[in-house]
Amino acid sequence: MNATARAAELRARLEEANARYYGSDESIVSDAEYDAWLRELIALETRRPELRTPDSPTQRIGAPPSERFAPFRHHAPMLSLANATSPDELRAFDERVRRLAGSAVDYVCELKIDGLAVAVHYHDGIFEWGATRGDGRIGEDVTVNLRTVRSLPLRLRGDVPARLEARGEVYLRKSDFARLNADRVARNLAPFANPRNAASGGLRQLDPALTAERSLSFFAYTLVEAGPAATQWEALAYLRACGFPTNPNVARAESIDAVIAFCAQWEERRDSLDYEIDGVVVKVNDIATQERLGAVARDPRWAIAFKFRPREARTRLRDIAINVGRTGSLNPYAILEPVPIGGVIVKSATLHNAEYVRSNDIRIGDTVVVTRAGDVIPRVVGPVPELRTGDERPFVMPDRCPVCGSAVDNPPGDAMSRCTNAACPAQVYERVRHFASRGAMDIEGLGDVLAEALTAAGIVHDIADVYALDAATLAALPRMGAKSAANLMRAIEASKTRGLARVLNGLGVRFVGDRTAEILAGDFGAMDALMEADESALQRSEGIGPEVAASLRLFFAQPKNRAMIARLQAAGVDMTAPRRARSADGPLAGKTVVLTGTLPTLARDAASALIVAAGGKVSGSVSARTDYVVAGAAPGSKLSKAEALGIPVLDEAGLRELLGVPN
Ligand code: NAD
Repeated sequence: MNATARAAELRARLEEANARYYGSDESIVSDAEYDAWLRELIALETRRPELRTPDSPTQRIGAPPSERFAPFRHHAPMLSLANATSPDELRAFDERVRRLAGSAVDYVCELKIDGLAVAVHYHDGIFEWGATRGDGRIGEDVTVNLRTVRSLPLRLRGDVPARLEARGEVYLRKSDFARLNADRVARNLAPFANPRNAASGGLRQLDPALTAERSLSFFAYTLVEAGPAATQWEALAYLRACGFPTNPNVARAESIDAVIAFCAQWEERRDSLDYEIDGVVVKVNDIATQERLGAVARDPRWAIAFKFRPREARTRLRDIAINVGRTGSLNPYAILEPVPIGGVIVKSATLHNAEYVRSNDIRIGDTVVVTRAGDVIPRVVGPVPELRTGDERPFVMPDRCPVCGSAVDNPPGDAMSRCTNAACPAQVYERVRHFASRGAMDIEGLGDVLAEALTAAGIVHDIADVYALDAATLAALPRMGAKSAANLMRAIEASKTRGLARVLNGLGVRFVGDRTAEILAGDFGAMDALMEADESALQRSEGIGPEVAASLRLFFAQPKNRAMIARLQAAGVDMTAPRRARSADGPLAGKTVVLTGTLPTLARDAASALIVAAGGKVSGSVSARTDYVVAGAAPGSKLSKAEALGIPVLDEAGLRELLGVPN
């Protein structure tokens, strides 16, 4: 292919990837492939400048803002960053910088957080506007959604200038990402490929309540118009003093060798963080020097992004095996030709469910792309169809449980096939393991091996049997002994005091994970109350929809489950919780608010999201437990009921005052 045709092809591919990445928060190729195409195009255009079109992806930042949001014109453009992928490229950057600056320079090294950049504007210290980067000049106004990001300060501390703009990264913690994806898979929704896409999609929701559900986080790294700071290092300190969260893992470096060492150290340690980083951003520290160096096309000359090696590899999918989960779900997973990815040898990877295998057309024998993004659990991204030989075969879900041989059920509309035998040893094992796990009853010593031994030996048939264990039985198990048995008995005894939220999580009810369990425990206070609650009562709790409510009702309706809970109770397991609202901090922590009528400027969803973000709970009906009623124009009977009960009634201004969010 000649250079002109190749440049056109690369442009087309990059355009399409950009549209999907920035427009729909999807990745149709890996970042590493995208970066390779971009580098190739830059090299081609440098060699043959006549091939450079004004609208080439090498000249543009991101993508035009979506029309779903109001446009927001940035006062100063939000740029991209040139990349380096090797120490040599960092050295070349340093030489260029020193030549242009005419002197030695020192650098600030910051982690490159894998989220999306936003600009946030404050007026007299109060958060006023926030926008995405968009095409660098015009971004999307996502002010209402940003208000739900808890770590973004709505009011700055100290003596700040009348107008202040900061920039930073909105991101999703790995722990929140794992929870979000587990929840999506359980609801038959496609899992997100990585935390970045989930964060970007979350911030760009039309309904701020949905943004609030994603639990996004924020780190600030740029002070625009750095008046109070002469260096980037001082700017970070200033941002911190104003109340912005800044990333603690930063360093000043007086030489490029120190920069290279910082990059190497963090490439090694990236798994230890609860957020994804894809590199290190190296910035000239002195702001006057930054201004002197300026920018070319889309990148500043005074900064560079060192990109880590991709944590992605291609390998052969040898087979697809099945793991039976605690709800009887048959979860396919990939058995791979072992391959090193980011320092570990990967032999297996998750495939989520049969629908994921089908919709991604993953076949046994395929060469597949495997990644470890956002999670330590590797996953198969998809096949490389052009490497097929014709010997690949599609995966067929068995109609019998591979563990106990019982029939498999696949209800219409459910992506998951399930073993119908509740006593299937694989299910019992998973249930016991989950019950004893750290997020549930936290029984130290009752891990995979012991759970397997206890269920295989027929000693434990359900989770309540754990409290019927005695030291002699345990000591007789292989590799146990009297001392381990005594320790385990102590751990089992200690687990009785964990409280309702942990027990509820430990029961393994479909759709009820740790967060939902905590909300329900806080709202109902006792297992008995929860067992008696009907679906509409359950749905009054925040985030509990018809699906979760039905699942809980189904669980509690089964006599065998009720008997098991009675046995837990008889064993002395604490099944109560202090009644409280979702959050322990925030101005509305522990408060229940009811909205009625139309507020002058806040839409109902936006008001709800703000209340939830401030730690409060929004309820649909007024009762003696309501703390405030917020009434707008044409309020309903809720207002008269509030008045009858003597509950404080606020207007929008009153609500804003409580929240610390002025007009
Ligand atoms: P970039 O990601 O290379 O660097 C700029 C961005 O880094 C900033 O906008 C900011 O969001 C982020 N950042 C994180 N921490 C920072 C810090 N401490 N200081 C400053 N910035 C920080 O450039 P880009 O223009 O945002 O995105 C291009 C990249 O996105 C590509 O290199 C590619 O990896 C990826 N991409 C992938 C696809 C795909 O289809 N897979 C498509 C488009 C873009």
